Amino acid sequence: MNYFNVPKIDLHCHLDGSVRPQTIIELARLQGLSLPSEDIDEIKTLMVAPETCPNLDEYLSRFELPLSVMQTQEAIERISFEVFEDAAKENVKYLEVRFGPQLHQQQGLTFGQIIDSAVKGMRKAEKRYDIHGNYILSILRTFAKDKINDIIDAGAKHLNDGVVAFDLAGSELPGFCHEFIPYAQYAIEKGYRVTIHAGEQGSGQNVHDAVSLLGAERIGHGIHIKGHEQAYDLVKNQAIALETCPSSNVQTKAVDALSDHPVKAFHKDGVLISINTDNRTVSNTTMTDEVRKVVEEFNLTPEEYFDIYKVSVEHSFASEAVKQHLLSFAP
Ligand SMILES: [Zn+2]
Repeated sequence: MNYFNVPKIDLHCHLDGSVRPQTIIELARLQGLSLPSEDIDEIKTLMVAPETCPNLDEYLSRFELPLSVMQTQEAIERISFEVFEDAAKENVKYLEVRFGPQLHQQQGLTFGQIIDSAVKGMRKAEKRYDIHGNYILSILRTFAKDKINDIIDAGAKHLNDGVVAFDLAGSELPGFCHEFIPYAQYAIEKGYRVTIHAGEQGSGQNVHDAVSLLGAERIGHGIHIKGHEQAYDLVKNQAIALETCPSSNVQTKAVDALSDHPVKAFHKDGVLISINTDNRTVSNTTMTDEVRKVVEEFNLTPEEYFDIYKVSVEHSFASEAVKQHLLSFAP
């Protein structure tokens, strides 16, 4: 299988974790910001997390530098364009990018300006390349909750036309879902779809809660349904698709090694999975690499790869027309 040429779909990709190191240098110069170094390799070192991080905080520290330059509309639009461009150039046909609008207000941008800029950059890439996309708005679990509905309102004007879903991201504490029920309900009433980071650092119970309390249709990671029978059965029986991010899961120690990843066992047992990057820069990866890793580690046949591709299409938050287009790439 030619991993580069094969059509790919990425449903779990963070904007601030996927910035080109060169762009950081150029934007810092434009914005008059001083960087710890002007050397591209040193900047890259500061952005890429080690292959196995001592802890999640070490991984999350890699987002500070990109976020420092992502505080203007021009910068957000440019970085959005570039993430879609990079993906399109490796034959990613559909990409859902997520980001936390709360992280881009250091210079006073409104949620509306932040979301508009991200969508604008994506549109520019869609015009130039054979790629389609949508944005997912990630709410940071550790931030104050008083602005959540404002973010949902600000994204609503793009709903099903650039913005499609509501997500909860950041540190995963036990039982976190209970605090977010009214916000997820508000998002659903407005027309948002729901995907939630759960079962990555936390337990299978969080996955169960995300589906049963928050209405999640997909789960970011979900690894820890393994060993939690109730969560496992719920995900399987309700056809909840897991957004698997193999390299990232090894880096953050969600699994000890790729060979220990339950992705193949899930797939064999009929649990729906997709293959995703999580963070193109922080995890130093591409969709080509992620597909290669999974296919080679678990000896998947091309047919099995395309089964996963089709699951990604069906459980994407794309329009029916885009889904039909994406299915046309599968044999
Ligand atoms: Zn993620």
